[in-house]
Amino acid sequence: MVSTDSAALAGLRAAALDIAGRGWKVFPCRPGTKAAYWHSLPDCAGAGVCTGGHVTPEQLATADPGRVAAKWSEGPLWNIAVFPGPSGLFLLDCDQPKPGHKGEHDPDGWTQLRALAAERGGPLPDTWTVETPTGGRHLLYTAPPGCRLRSTVKHIGSNIDTRGWGGYALAPGSLLPEGGYGLLDDSDPAVLPGWLVQVAVERAPTAVSGRNEKPVAAPDAYTAAAVRGEIDRVCAAQPGTRNKVLSTAAYALGQLVGARLLEEAYARAELRGAVAAWNTPDSAAKDDGVIDTALRAGAANPRRVTPRSSPSRAA
Ligand SMILES: [Zn+2]
Repeated sequence: MVSTDSAALAGLRAAALDIAGRGWKVFPCRPGTKAAYWHSLPDCAGAGVCTGGHVTPEQLATADPGRVAAKWSEGPLWNIAVFPGPSGLFLLDCDQPKPGHKGEHDPDGWTQLRALAAERGGPLPDTWTVETPTGGRHLLYTAPPGCRLRSTVKHIGSNIDTRGWGGYALAPGSLLPEGGYGLLDDSDPAVLPGWLVQVAVERAPTAVSGRNEKPVAAPDAYTAAAVRGEIDRVCAAQPGTRNKVLSTAAYALGQLVGARLLEEAYARAELRGAVAAWNTPDSAAKDDGVIDTALRAGAANPRRVTPRSSPSRAA
């Protein structure tokens, strides 16, 4: 018993150090789960590292070998969360269809991804790949510099999620009750192909109905700052407050859409990306409804903007 546990502990420590040794940032998850071992904002005591305000696992994740070795020597069999955003990575999560979920009758995510690559005529280079206990695979790419890609849920395909900023995934060596995460391809991460960058930021096909397809223009600096402030608030919203925070943010972005400062597709894509960071796929349809309603209400009450006025809610 003791020797088994110490062997398991040594295995997880070696796995965590291997990830950290690549410069990728890790954080412990509760043994046998995907849940980060940390408190949420409502439970924050404002002490320790949170003295100056609550900090998140994404902010705390580290590649420091000394700290990683110490954490994974404490005793609990911490699972290993790797955070793609601060690690300069982007992860495609190709899943098996799940009964009762969107995509349940569709091909698995990996099949969808290969079909999409063929359709777009884009490459799908060998890259660092993890097999999940449920038969899915995580493909890890290096993120293009200067491109802050967020997480998405069922956006690229009905069985494909992505993990960028605001998301994380378990690394090889991690253990769930149904099995362990294993390395399927130890190639170094490939640079995320351009066609995948494009599909990751395009709005979902279902949102295109009834509108003319046109490229989405990037907002000006003032508007971009205002958008970033709202999106950051949504990403940081805690369970119990999310509906209200999402509705408020979508309304504010809707006001910018109404003032013709922001394209609706851009606003929608940003809001969906922020919601995806909550990692609650089950509520995605409901969240879409909140976004639609509040965007429309905001657009009906455009923000009045005078040139060179300073943004009141910009982050
Ligand atoms: Zn805190």
